[in-house]
Amino acid sequence: MSRILVLNCGSSSVKWRLFHGSDTAGKGLVERVGSGGPADHEAALASILSSVDLSGLAAVGHRVVHGGDRFSAPTIVTDEVIAAVRDLVPLAPLHNPANLTGIEVARRLLPDVTQVAVFDTAFHRTMPAWARAYAIDTSVADRWGIQRYGFHGTSHEYVSRRTAALLGREVTDTNVITLHLGNGASACAVKGGRSLITSMGMSPLEGLVMGTRSGDIDPTIIFHLRRVGGLDVDQIDELLNRRSGLVGLAGDNDMREIIARRDAGDAAATLAFDMYCQRIKGYVGAYAALLGRVDAVTFTAGVGENAAPVRAAALAGLTAFGIAVDPDRDDGARSGERIISPDGAPVAVCVVPTDEELEIAIQTRGVLEADRAPSEQR
Ligand code: ADP
Repeated sequence: MSRILVLNCGSSSVKWRLFHGSDTAGKGLVERVGSGGPADHEAALASILSSVDLSGLAAVGHRVVHGGDRFSAPTIVTDEVIAAVRDLVPLAPLHNPANLTGIEVARRLLPDVTQVAVFDTAFHRTMPAWARAYAIDTSVADRWGIQRYGFHGTSHEYVSRRTAALLGREVTDTNVITLHLGNGASACAVKGGRSLITSMGMSPLEGLVMGTRSGDIDPTIIFHLRRVGGLDVDQIDELLNRRSGLVGLAGDNDMREIIARRDAGDAAATLAFDMYCQRIKGYVGAYAALLGRVDAVTFTAGVGENAAPVRAAALAGLTAFGIAVDPDRDDGARSGERIISPDGAPVAVCVVPTDEELEIAIQTRGVLEADRAPSEQR
């Protein structure tokens, strides 16, 4: 079985994992790139490549955050693909440049190895027009690329597929509401294995209350802060992306701390916890209505996988929807993929640890196989 190297290049870090089939043959994280660690991404990648056994390397799979409306599937990297990802930098100014650097350096250092780009947005390209569009003047939206792109697609895809497997169902016949609750957080209604709608929008700012992001707000807040508060656009951007959410409400973006303080009676932490969980509940209700039939609600990522109090509060009072958590099954003692709803419940509530790197490796291998198939037939 050939090997796949998965790279996730951030602005100051490179996360990597080497797969042999679905087994991990090595992994690591290089941090402080350009600020005390390796001088640049090239140096970081060179040191990673020199430390791993690259024999039988079939491809490098790159995480790319924004694929715009151009990429609805993982894609073999060509000059044209690089140009297209570069064109999308205005939509993802923090992420796409670092992802691009990773691709360009890997191409230089491994010129004979196929590079594959796997996009966070691609899974959501199946969203219908009513879910993609914002209700603003269509000509303005079209001119500026304003639409819901959605993010965390690799995670929502992986987790919804694993949920179907956990339930012993076909993914094409399974409707799942996936709740990716990490530092960033998003919900997705997955209908028969395809994204119907997701809570992040044109950027990762929309939707759920997050570690440092506000999620949904009235856009007038922005006009008001500009006109009356005198903040400039960059200050408002910084406020909503970095000083809001749990941090803005309670001064801490670690859900463990929020829960501990709430248990001790801290009012700010209680408000933050309640807003976080009630926002999730609202999305679950909305997505249940949009899906029509829900087979499972699945929690994933740092908070979703670990915080039983969040799972309990977010789904409390939903028995009329067939949704309930069995407290004995969610007592914090279990880990791994699991069902936490009572036996026979109409909707299974699940916890599925996400594995975005594995999903990138799976998709990268899929692209290689699809690329080879036609020539084998000739
Ligand atoms: P990222 O979005 O950075 O990949 P993760 O998915 O790793 O984030 O989630 C990180 C968050 O998970 C942290 O902010 C932390 O609050 C939360 N978390 C991790 N472990 C626990 C836990 N046992 N209980 C509650 N929250 C947790």
